Amino acid sequence: MIGVPPGSPVELDLRLESVVEGVLVSGTAAVEVRGECVRCLGEVYGQVQVDIQELFVYPGAEPDNDLASRLQGDLIDLEPLLRDEVVLDLPFQPLCRDDCLGLCVECGANVNKDPDHRHETDIDPRWEALRGIEGDGGKSYDVLEPAPQATKFPGKSARRNQE
Ligand SMILES: [Zn+2]
Ligand SMILES: [Zn+2]
Repeated sequence: MIGVPPGSPVELDLRLESVVEGVLVSGTAAVEVRGECVRCLGEVYGQVQVDIQELFVYPGAEPDNDLASRLQGDLIDLEPLLRDEVVLDLPFQPLCRDDCLGLCVECGANVNKDPDHRHETDIDPRWEALRGIEGDGGKSYDVLEPAPQATKFPGKSARRNQE
C-alpha cells in the first residue's frame, strides 16, 4: 500500500485565472507519498507531482459538465481534485527499488540485506524422513507426490512488526 500521510505538506505551484464561468486553476502540486514495498515490505517514500488544470465554476453558473468543480463561495477546494490526481499517479505496486530482491520465501528474511542468503537445501521437510533410507537394491519405494502446499504469501509472516 502507498498513500499520502495525513498532515503532510503539499507544494503547490498554481496559477489562477478569472474566466467567464469561474476560475481556471492550472499548475502543479507535489505531495509526499509513503508506503511499503510489495516485495520486501520496506518503507517506500517519494514525491508525486501532478499537473492540475481545472475550471472551478461560480456557484450559480451552469457548467457544460455536471461534474465540474465548483467554487465554495470565494474559496477553491483543491482537495478532491488533488486526491483524484494523486491516486491516479500512485504506483500500483510500489517497490523500494526497481531490483528489490524481496523476502525469502522460506524464512521471510529480507534478501536485500543479505544477498547471499540461501538455505542449505531445498528439500521439502516432509521428505526429510525419507533421508537415510537406503535402497536395498531390489525394492523400490513408491513415493507419492506431497499434497500441494497452500500458496505462501511471503508478506503475511513478515508483517509482525507492522502496525
Ligand atoms: Zn523492497
Ligand atoms: Zn531464508
